[in-house]
Amino acid sequence: MSASIDAAQVAKAFEAAYGTAPDGVWSAPGRVNLIGEHTDYNEGYVLPFAIDRAAAVAIRLRGDTTARLVSSYGNQGVVTVDLDTLSRDTMSGWTAYPLGVVWVMRQLGITIGGFDLYLQSTVPSGAGLSSSAAIECAVATAFNELASAGLGLNELVLVGQRAENEVVGAPTGILDQSASLLSTDGHAVFLDCRTQESKLVPLDLAAAGLLILVVDTKVSHSHATGGYSARRASCELGAEVLGVRALRDVAAAELPEAAGLLDEETFRRVRHIVTENQRVLDTVAVLDDAGPAAIGALLTASHASMRDDFEISCAELDLAVDKALAHGALGARMTGGGFGGSAIALIPAAAEEQVRAAVVHAFAEAGFGVPDIFAVSPAPGARRIH
Ligand code: ADP
Ligand code: MG
Repeated sequence: MSASIDAAQVAKAFEAAYGTAPDGVWSAPGRVNLIGEHTDYNEGYVLPFAIDRAAAVAIRLRGDTTARLVSSYGNQGVVTVDLDTLSRDTMSGWTAYPLGVVWVMRQLGITIGGFDLYLQSTVPSGAGLSSSAAIECAVATAFNELASAGLGLNELVLVGQRAENEVVGAPTGILDQSASLLSTDGHAVFLDCRTQESKLVPLDLAAAGLLILVVDTKVSHSHATGGYSARRASCELGAEVLGVRALRDVAAAELPEAAGLLDEETFRRVRHIVTENQRVLDTVAVLDDAGPAAIGALLTASHASMRDDFEISCAELDLAVDKALAHGALGARMTGGGFGGSAIALIPAAAEEQVRAAVVHAFAEAGFGVPDIFAVSPAPGARRIH
């Protein structure tokens, strides 16, 4: 899959599908979370960056109440719906992402009539790089302009999150949409998930002679959804027992005391969140002081915490991390919700071939499927591209 989106080609594909040119083409990127995993719904800190892979939507307003949707992905044909009969329960499959956004915007009182939409994405689906938020944010950005809705970026973040929570039914936080909407080229987004305050942090990998490799394990564990809900429930239990609004309010220095109040498993879940929040703050400070070459140990410590305390890693992710570290990575960790998906490795650019080869070889030896390995760089957020 080619990483870059060709806006003119997307417009042509729209024309081939619908017979006329689109009103415009908008794109929104997927993301890698550099550090801060499962901290978002604990009202804590995250540090994602948008990657140079994106979803693009070409849209043309129709002037009636019919919506037609086509994706280049799969061979699923045209989905046609009447917007006036759109309800949360009738949206399913991939169109729940774009239609979910339209539904939420209409709920907010924004007038959106019929349209034709063509979607093309270079964000691999289900790899933990948030192909879903990329679609939501591209569509939200498009209709914000087409309907002259005037929503700010933070409001668009919440539109995407509501579509994901209320229509798709995935109980996710604001990390993915924030990364997709707020990023700028060469920066990561330091986000406080309690206040929605954000700050751009320079992340110039190329200048430091580094790159980040994504290892998509292609593993999608069937217990991913159940595991995610179970972790959320543990965090909520921990916060309740410790008498705080969210685990964000527990400091690392308070962990010894928390150990005496919680059962062993809940304590480990809490310890991951508390130490992970601190690692995000430390990563931002180290990036400011010393640059990206100095954050490797924090990334690797984050992985150990997810593997041992939060227990959301899997054999494929652990192997990718271990092999990358053994062959020159400065740091490595699984990224995303866990139970499969992708790992990231921060490596000197010169070590790329050797890390790739080591991971591919180790996967073959272990009898795992062939991973997809590619470099990503910090990219701009959602915008109009045609
Ligand atoms: P992730 O966001 O980590 O990639 P999700 O399960 O949240 O994984 O979202 C993946 C879903 O997004 C797919 O099942 C599909 O419904 C939708 N999707 C992703 N890419 C495309 C695409 N190019 N065309 C249509 N639907 C897509
Ligand atoms: Mg997703």
